[in-house]
Amino acid sequence: MIEKKKEKMRTLPAMDLLLSQDWIEGWISKLGRDTVKSLLSELLSDIRREILEDEDPDTSIDFINAQAKRIFTGEEKRKLRPLVNATGVVIHTNLGRSCLATEAVLAVSDIAASYSTLEYNIETGTRGSRNSLVEGLLCRLTGAEAALVVNNNAAAVVLCLCALANGAEVIVSRGELVEIGGSFRIPDIMRFSGAKIVEVGTTNRTHLKDYADAITKDTAMILKVHPSNFRIEGYTASVTREELAALASQHEVVFMEDAGSGLLIEADVLGLDGEDSVRKCISSGADLITFSGDKMLGGPQIGIVAGKREIINKLRNVQIMRAFRVDKMTLAALEATLRIYLRGDIDLIPAVSMLKQKSSAVKERALNFASLLSKEFAGAAKFSVIPVEDAVGGGAYPAKPLKGWGVSVTDHAWGSAGNLQTLLRLCDNPVIAGAKDDCLIFHVRTLLNGDEEKIIEALKSI
Ligand SMILES: *Cc1c(COP(=O)(O)O)cnc(C)c1O
Repeated sequence: MIEKKKEKMRTLPAMDLLLSQDWIEGWISKLGRDTVKSLLSELLSDIRREILEDEDPDTSIDFINAQAKRIFTGEEKRKLRPLVNATGVVIHTNLGRSCLATEAVLAVSDIAASYSTLEYNIETGTRGSRNSLVEGLLCRLTGAEAALVVNNNAAAVVLCLCALANGAEVIVSRGELVEIGGSFRIPDIMRFSGAKIVEVGTTNRTHLKDYADAITKDTAMILKVHPSNFRIEGYTASVTREELAALASQHEVVFMEDAGSGLLIEADVLGLDGEDSVRKCISSGADLITFSGDKMLGGPQIGIVAGKREIINKLRNVQIMRAFRVDKMTLAALEATLRIYLRGDIDLIPAVSMLKQKSSAVKERALNFASLLSKEFAGAAKFSVIPVEDAVGGGAYPAKPLKGWGVSVTDHAWGSAGNLQTLLRLCDNPVIAGAKDDCLIFHVRTLLNGDEEKIIEALKSI
């Protein structure tokens, strides 16, 4: 038996022989010699393992070449690449949250390929500050006295807690000790930052008196957290921002709010309600507010701290700020996005315009797409326009689906909805579609210009 396996092992072609083949040369120049070599060596060890496990694999050079070609082709594809989001979830964290406005994209490529004014004041010829590139714009948009940008909202919260509440007490409602997704849990973040959590109230009800009774000489902050991805309904009570602001100022502690998504415009402009803009939070008395740049704001991944100048100044030079520093491409995208807001051209921001789209406009797009598909695939499948539930995503408005429209695909030979979803996912230009009741659905709200053609190409290729 052992002899037989050894015999089989000997039939495997040697690495040198594999590498010396002409067709390999092309792959070496595409992938690099080391990569080609290590992929071949992984392939050979897989086959050796199969021999040891009595699986009697094919060891011919033709078979190995075919396997290698398949592996090289997979390796050649960029790992981070665009795809079509036909899920109807606008701020889809796994699919990269917000798409940048064209102006922001141009600003990024401009700055990425060149030296820039990142930390250089051209008027005085001296060192400048990267934060000052966007601080004024953020203040104008939010009514804040000062603002600071860091890598994401999680970093913004950590920065504030580390700088203002390390070793001190932070009061937070039990109804707001949330987990946002991934590894962002408010209690863990607070402990990590060296703050002592003082929980008040109950899961469903917290009153002003609960906060007031918890204030001691060691209290540094009252923290309000946007519950993001969950809602408590029924018998509930929470304390208004105005009341918390008054309490905090009376006791000279900081009142900070983690707003999560961060709206630079009023929610009703988007046809949504129940969410306050950053400007509103600040005018209602929050000393500090933190929010993301790539959620409902529609810009790059970034965290923003906005609020009182005196407090923000304390954050500027803390050590950990250096670890949260934002890079120039992100700043270029953020500056361009903020300028669009200031001009009032918000429809140019993809996330904003997708959220804002009226149901009638979404339906029209679905009708056009369905007739396009019916023409292309006449007789091969049936395409119907159906009402669907879209979502804001990014932890915002979890209980409020957006009224959307989609194109369903039925009567086809591509197998189950799940099977068709997989085929579309594995295309050269991947398409991520929804499904319901074993029926594949393209939600059209989240399609970008040209995505319809990409979906048609994908369907043709499968
Ligand atoms: C999304 C969210 C965060 C995390 O923001 P990132 O920008 O993803 O780091 C923190 N707090 C709240 C309330 C959120 O909704």
